[in-house]
Amino acid sequence: MDRLRIATVWLGGCAGCHMSFLDLDEFLIELAGKVDLVYSPVMDVKEFPGNVDVCLIEGAVCNEDNLELLHKIRARTKVLVSFGDCAVTGNVPAMRNQFGIGNSENVLQRAYVENAQNNPRVPKADGIVPQLLKRVTPVHEAVRVEFFLPGCPPSAANIKALMVQVLEGKTPKLEGTQLKFG
Ligand code: SF4
Repeated sequence: MDRLRIATVWLGGCAGCHMSFLDLDEFLIELAGKVDLVYSPVMDVKEFPGNVDVCLIEGAVCNEDNLELLHKIRARTKVLVSFGDCAVTGNVPAMRNQFGIGNSENVLQRAYVENAQNNPRVPKADGIVPQLLKRVTPVHEAVRVEFFLPGCPPSAANIKALMVQVLEGKTPKLEGTQLKFG
């Protein structure tokens, strides 16, 4: 069997899910023997590559850069995994929705002006600071997702269980409301 091409991506999250991935410890060595990691925040690759087999996506969809990258990932990847509660439900980043859905200016004012102790000013720099979306969404509201791996963060044991099944070439099937490997 060809080596699987694996990617991991960090959208609007805290990196905690990636820390949990690193908690796979010695299983990482076994994984390295069976897959090629082709894109990840833990490596220096600028462009999301084509022909990716599995991509784990940490974080919610918060800004225009997140959304653009996510559509590129979907077009270039066979199996997407919503990796952690921020990706699955919106979780912590989606708390900003309570400050006014459809009005991300409220959030910026709250964070950078009302709560600022020094130099209150909303950061703006075209091409550098991405525009916030009007509403934070979970990944599956933006693109199709094959697997959901909840947890804040998901435990290393659950990440391992998912990766083992992916390595065995099992494919997801919807049974009722549950995604199962078959
Ligand atoms: S699910 Fe939890 S650990 Fe993962 S990015 Fe969100 S807040 Fe961080």
